[in-house]
Parts: sequence; structure tokens; C-alpha cells
Amino acid sequence: MGYDDPNNPGNSSKHHTGKLCIEGCGRPAGTRWSPYWCFECNVRRMQRITAQLDALMIKMEKKALVGEEKSDGIHDGNDA
Ligand SMILES: [Zn+2]
Repeated sequence: MGYDDPNNPGNSSKHHTGKLCIEGCGRPAGTRWSPYWCFECNVRRMQRITAQLDALMIKMEKKALVGEEKSDGIHDGNDA
């Protein structure tokens, strides 16, 4: 990903907007991933989003499994 690597070009000062981080930490805002957060806060934000996406994917996979079971049931019903 690179967002958590301070040496990644996406985290270089050329992405700084000249404004301060939206979290109020006092560091300069602006990375390749967002103009509103500084590097440190952006890493925390991305990790939060990644965790939420993981949870969502697990939920969707569970739903998909339930859906397959249901459609199998309907299929069996049509055959009978
Ligand atoms: Zn910050």
C-alpha cells in the first residue's frame, strides 16, 4: 500500500497542502491518499478503514453463503 511508509513518495512534502491536519495534531496536512490528514493521522485513518472493510467483507461473505443456501433450497423445491 505504502500509505504507512514515511519514505513513500506519496507521503513526501510535495503533497502538503500548506494547511494543518484536520485532526488538530499541528502537523502539515496532505498525502497522496488525502489532502486533509497528515502522514501519522492518515495511517491511523487508513488502518481504521481497512479494519472496517475487513469486517464488511466477512459480513458479505457470510451473507453470500446464506444466499447460496437459500437459492439451493429454492432450486431443490423446483426440482421436486
Ligand atoms: Zn495529524
